[in-house]
Amino acid sequence: MNHLTKKKILHRWNKLKGVPIEWDLAPYYKILMKINEIDLEKASDKKIKERSARLIEQARQGTSLDKLLVEAYALVREAAWRTVGMRPFDVQVIAGIAMHQGKLAEMNTGEGKTLVAVLPAYLNAISGKGVHIHTFNDYLARRDAAWMGPIYEFLGLSVGCIQEGMSQNERKKAYNAGITYSTAKEAGFDFLRDHLCYREKNCVHREFHFVIVDEADSILIDEARIPLVIAGSTEKPETGPGQLVQIAKGLKEDVDFETDEGKRNIYLTPSGLQRVETILEVKNLHAPENLDLLTRLNQALHAEYLLHRDIDYIVRKGKIEIVDEFTGRVVEDRHWPDGLQAAVEAKEKLRLGSGGSILGSITLQHFLEHYSKISGMTATAQSAADELKQFYGLTVVIVPPNRPCIRKDHLDEIFTHNDAKTKALIVEIRRCHETERPVLVGTASVEESEELAAALKKTGISCHVLNAKNDELEAQIIAQAGSPGTVTISTNMAGRGTDIKLGGDKEQERDKVVSLGGLYVIGTNRHESLRVDLQLRGRAGRQGDPGSSRFYTSLEDNLIKRYNIRNLLPKKYHNLKQDEPIENPLVQKEIARGQRIIEGQNFEIRKTLWKYSILVEKHREMTQNRRQEILWDGSNLDFLEDAAPELYSKVKSLMGDKQMHKIEQRITLYAIDQCWTDHIAKIADIREGIHLTSVAGQSPIREFHKIADQEFQQLEHKIDDMILQTFESLPVTEKGVDLDDAGIRGPSSTWTYVITDNQFGLWVGMIQGSNIGATAVAAAAYGPLYILLGLLQRFWKKPKN
Ligand code: ADP
Ligand code: MG
Repeated sequence: MNHLTKKKILHRWNKLKGVPIEWDLAPYYKILMKINEIDLEKASDKKIKERSARLIEQARQGTSLDKLLVEAYALVREAAWRTVGMRPFDVQVIAGIAMHQGKLAEMNTGEGKTLVAVLPAYLNAISGKGVHIHTFNDYLARRDAAWMGPIYEFLGLSVGCIQEGMSQNERKKAYNAGITYSTAKEAGFDFLRDHLCYREKNCVHREFHFVIVDEADSILIDEARIPLVIAGSTEKPETGPGQLVQIAKGLKEDVDFETDEGKRNIYLTPSGLQRVETILEVKNLHAPENLDLLTRLNQALHAEYLLHRDIDYIVRKGKIEIVDEFTGRVVEDRHWPDGLQAAVEAKEKLRLGSGGSILGSITLQHFLEHYSKISGMTATAQSAADELKQFYGLTVVIVPPNRPCIRKDHLDEIFTHNDAKTKALIVEIRRCHETERPVLVGTASVEESEELAAALKKTGISCHVLNAKNDELEAQIIAQAGSPGTVTISTNMAGRGTDIKLGGDKEQERDKVVSLGGLYVIGTNRHESLRVDLQLRGRAGRQGDPGSSRFYTSLEDNLIKRYNIRNLLPKKYHNLKQDEPIENPLVQKEIARGQRIIEGQNFEIRKTLWKYSILVEKHREMTQNRRQEILWDGSNLDFLEDAAPELYSKVKSLMGDKQMHKIEQRITLYAIDQCWTDHIAKIADIREGIHLTSVAGQSPIREFHKIADQEFQQLEHKIDDMILQTFESLPVTEKGVDLDDAGIRGPSSTWTYVITDNQFGLWVGMIQGSNIGATAVAAAAYGPLYILLGLLQRFWKKPKN
């Protein structure tokens, strides 16, 4: 059977199973052929620019973009060659077509996804509506905008890029460009800021249109549930986390509290509960009036026993800095939810950060829903295809490499204990280093990177350790990881998006490294998500280069211990200790199965979080739509005139029609913002406490939705009350009213940050009890059976339809 037939069969099989992955690229090839027919090689620059101008004209007059695709892509191809010296390969054009169709292209690392994005970006920008390209970090936004900019400009479009710390004007200008590069986070923060504006000219975004998400799995899955938050200053005092942490420190594991297998949840035992109740002098900690206390006690326990210094966070300059579990790096501007953050600060005896109040918040996932079309690219989408379809309606298209990948992915070397693993690692690194073959080692944490570097140094091997907090510096180091004799150690996603060239920047060294077998990637741990492991492997063997990869793992690895994967293994491995690697292929299989189960559990957690947020998100949208309508066209403002007719006509006679309208507008915006701030604080409290009050037999989600709905019903009235109250309490002088004097304006200062919801296994676990991911476990364990069942169901349903 030839390769193509195999792909077709796989494609059909997937379709039958309902798997949202496309392997068969025949429909794209048809379009590609038409693009290839257009010969622009001999056309002058002027001619090409004219053709682009004509295309722009046609798009603005309403010709559908699908009809313009062929010519647009041919033009970009030629323009790219003339400006940046790269002519998109056929496979790149195919990926570009799929992305225009709102799909997600999976292409290996180093296949040139940056260039691919230009094709759909140009096509979708010619209509005059803005196109956003979300990059993995600020540095890449800057790099890609500068790198690809000449192509767009050649074709008559403008390009902009958003960086942290930019002013409102700079942002507005960048968003007004045809194509804007930024991180999803920055675009989301701007969205939140726009919804606090009191003047429409201060809003920076235009209407959301088309977005291309680079490193899509990372943003759309790993980061999707992370809420972006905008806060403003208030003087709300936080009380008591210090005392609660003190109490938590005094408890004993297995006597007063227990943790579950994944170390995600912590529970007080009956005796622990009693102890705490005695110390706190409360009769019943589970009584409704103690809900707040119980919630904060749980946060203190979580902070004390489930979050570890130098693994989950580090303390620097008197502040907690959170380490991202996916990248192993410190993430800036990230907080845990307020209560947990305060508990960790108390644990580390730090001065509590000034608690502002949250003015608005949105998860990346809900933010992305504002775009009318979404597409993306990444090297690792397949294993998340179901989730991508469910949450974003995205189909994954597998695009083959331009040149076949010849990287050798070796089976794992699995050891019974960590010491044996480290020894073997050092021997292996040394063996390669002696021949000058470059090695890139991916670790699970900054701590591990530093320990390994120290151990290597003892044996006389010096290496680059990536622990810079600076993405650009990091990119420069990782770009050199392919130079002969180099050993680079980094946490597993550091430097994502940076190209590793064999030989580094010295072209003449390339052959030497090729003859040594290319870059050798070693992983020192399996990650919770297979995608992250694959990302690491993908650092080697780019564009048909030679290379190899191997993971060194041990049964003492965090992942194995945390999820008790040992229990999946045959009994004889439970207590075995030996220096040689385990040879049994079954162990390999079981670890892979464990990883699948964990992935399934994490999916379940994300789904639960999503279920909780969906209703509140709807409320947010309704409230903010109303707000922005008032901001943009100032309509629907007849409330005050009806509610306080006398005062209304008095102020109006003093201020005149136009001013009166402005006053009404500002008071309404003010009232909406104030009430919304209170509303989300209340909802957050309810959300965090819901598992503690859950009435027997009630589903916490349903209960939560019920309460949230009631709160929302009241919100409308609260806003109206506040409008009226604010208006009536304004001091009226003979000159009329002065809103600034009366303090009717937006927050004096705001700041933005990201809450890390990953730790919210805490919360979800509590809601779901020990049942998290029971279905996922079943699906992973009985995968084939499930598929069969799915198939049967499909056939079953057909006749009825
Ligand atoms: P990815 O994002 O897929 O990992 P990049 O966009 O960083 O890859 O590109 C990797 C390398 O491939 C870059 O050095 C780029 O110059 C090169 N490249 C991409 N497309 C082409 C092309 N069509 N012709 C020549 N070089 C290309
Ligand atoms: Mg890239």
